[in-house]
Amino acid sequence: MFTKLTFADANASYENAEFVIFGAPFDGTSCFRSGSRGAPLAIRKASYNFELYYPAYDIDLGDISFCDLGDIDVSTLVDETLAFIQSEMKRIIGDGKTPIMIGGEHSLTCACVRAFSDVNVVVLDAHLDLRDEYAGTRQSHACVSRRILDRVGVESYASLGIRSGAREEYDFAKQNGVRFYSATQVQSEGVVNITQDLIKYLGKGKIYLSIDMDVIDPAYAPAVGTPEPFGLTPDDIRYILQALAPRVVGFDLVEISPDYDHGQTSLLGAKLIREFIVVKGSVKNERTTTTG
Ligand code: MN
Ligand code: MN
Repeated sequence: MFTKLTFADANASYENAEFVIFGAPFDGTSCFRSGSRGAPLAIRKASYNFELYYPAYDIDLGDISFCDLGDIDVSTLVDETLAFIQSEMKRIIGDGKTPIMIGGEHSLTCACVRAFSDVNVVVLDAHLDLRDEYAGTRQSHACVSRRILDRVGVESYASLGIRSGAREEYDFAKQNGVRFYSATQVQSEGVVNITQDLIKYLGKGKIYLSIDMDVIDPAYAPAVGTPEPFGLTPDDIRYILQALAPRVVGFDLVEISPDYDHGQTSLLGAKLIREFIVVKGSVKNERTTTTG
């Protein structure tokens, strides 16, 4: 059931882990460049490239307890796969831990969100993903934000980095007041201002964060299912991740298609996952230290 290679430095048992990583090697609805089923393994391999120490936080990643369960069982059917993921997410959340899913394609995020009862959702993506149906299924990666909206409502959802969608998707967003920030807006107003605005819009609740790696410009992250030029930089994404991480209760990173990589996209994916653990983990460590 589980692959042998685990994410680098994931030394905790499930019982002791604060963060729980699992892979979801499913790309059954991918339409352009499939292959994201290979991403969990490619990202795990890439994770061995990095130092343990994070100077900006004066912390070793190994001081934070996290585990890697390996890959979850997936089916060839999207609905069945979503059900597996939702129940695994529920178990992890129920045990008071922060789940981190390595996709796989973006459709899987929907199952992750459904596992939470009350959560805001932030999606970083080049695409609106607001189609009601695509290629005969309502569970396509191209519909994922629409399905998330069905679940949480517009007041609890925002996407960022957007630069692509069908006319019908832009119409839907406008008619329903869906909050999204375009890549151009991020470039012109600056990532700091946009992130502040997003935080203000969502209010104080918990956040589920989904990173569709195509939000990043293909120059930095070429190996994605549906690459889209004029994207955000890795630094933009790191800034957003750092700003949101303390409030993030569930996280996924999806849509890397390693066959198209020279290694850099998986490296970036692995680093973002490590960054998330360090930022959220060090906030907790600080709290523990200051409260004795
Ligand atoms: Mn997407
Ligand atoms: Mn996308």
